Amino acid sequence: MSVDANCIFCKIVAGQIPSRKVFEDEDLFAFHDIAPWAPVHFLIIPKLHIPSMAHVGAEHASLLGKIMTLAPQLALEQGCNPYPQGGFRIVTNTGAEGGQEVHHLHVHVMGGPRPWLRG
Ligand code: 5GP
Ligand code: ZN
Repeated sequence: MSVDANCIFCKIVAGQIPSRKVFEDEDLFAFHDIAPWAPVHFLIIPKLHIPSMAHVGAEHASLLGKIMTLAPQLALEQGCNPYPQGGFRIVTNTGAEGGQEVHHLHVHVMGGPRPWLRG
């Protein structure tokens, strides 16, 4: 299934729910988290509806590679300070025990000066 009509992140990609966009290309969409933990907190998602990291297979390797190589570039663009004094945190919650609330694969990128609200 490439899009799930009941998925809030699919609706964000489609523009049916507004978001503060950080980046978009043919495969990926990135936007600011509505409830940020840190001065910089955005999400990178595939446009393809993949429910979680538990659903990832070898066919998704290049898509995940794109997400992980985009993250450091966007982190700096969005105001994270340079490594090593600065840096950022990448998190992907997976399943109920992993703390996942939205079941469309997403990578949190958090950074900026301490203290953070959480984490
Ligand atoms: P999870 O707990 O699934 O890893 O994270 C879901 C994240 O999505 C949370 O940090 C939450 O604040 C964010 N979120 C949930 N709904 C919306 C929304 O409608 N818009 C935006 N921008 N972020 C959302
Ligand atoms: Zn979705």
